Amino acid sequence: FSVSDYLRDHIRTVPDWPAPGVQFRDITPLLQNPRVFRVLIDAFVHRYMAPELRPDVVAGLDARGFILGSVVAYELNVGFVPIRKKGKLPFDTVAETYELEYGSATVELHTDAVQAGQRVLLIDDLIATGGTMMAGKKLLEKLGATVTEGAAIVDLPELGGSARLREGGLKLFTLVEFD
Ligand code: IMP
Repeated sequence: FSVSDYLRDHIRTVPDWPAPGVQFRDITPLLQNPRVFRVLIDAFVHRYMAPELRPDVVAGLDARGFILGSVVAYELNVGFVPIRKKGKLPFDTVAETYELEYGSATVELHTDAVQAGQRVLLIDDLIATGGTMMAGKKLLEKLGATVTEGAAIVDLPELGGSARLREGGLKLFTLVEFD
């Protein structure tokens, strides 16, 4: 039994969405099936239960990182903090802008979301160019926290994002790869 193959079988590929030529990897079927959802969450929880990898806080990236991150945080008995797209967080924030294929995006984090010195696990559903996860790492580091690892269900290694993140000093844990 391969967890990776089992999860891969429950990821749907939608051609030409959101734009022609894009193969969108849709993780919603993983969440919909309770047995698959449990295998998915347990894969993260078992890894981060280990004392040397257990974080103080889980940070989730808008929006599918919230679905995964909050459940993992709950199971680890640590807090969860959301990194949100610009303009959604009501309190004082730090912000980070990064380049997209067309234009740019900004993500924000409440200034009191983490404390200096805390060890943070950063979670999203998928790593493509790595820009989103890198921006999240920078936000957490602006507040003095340490991102101990970045975790995602899917890596698209051909886009080079995971390699760039590792070169930038971020350890990564992903469960499924697609070409
Ligand atoms: P990156 O910043 O280029 O690494 O893109 C990753 C971000 O875009 C993540 O927040 C993903 O949720 C989203 N994303 C990009 N491509 C896909 C996809 O094929 N399926 C699901 N999410 C995607």
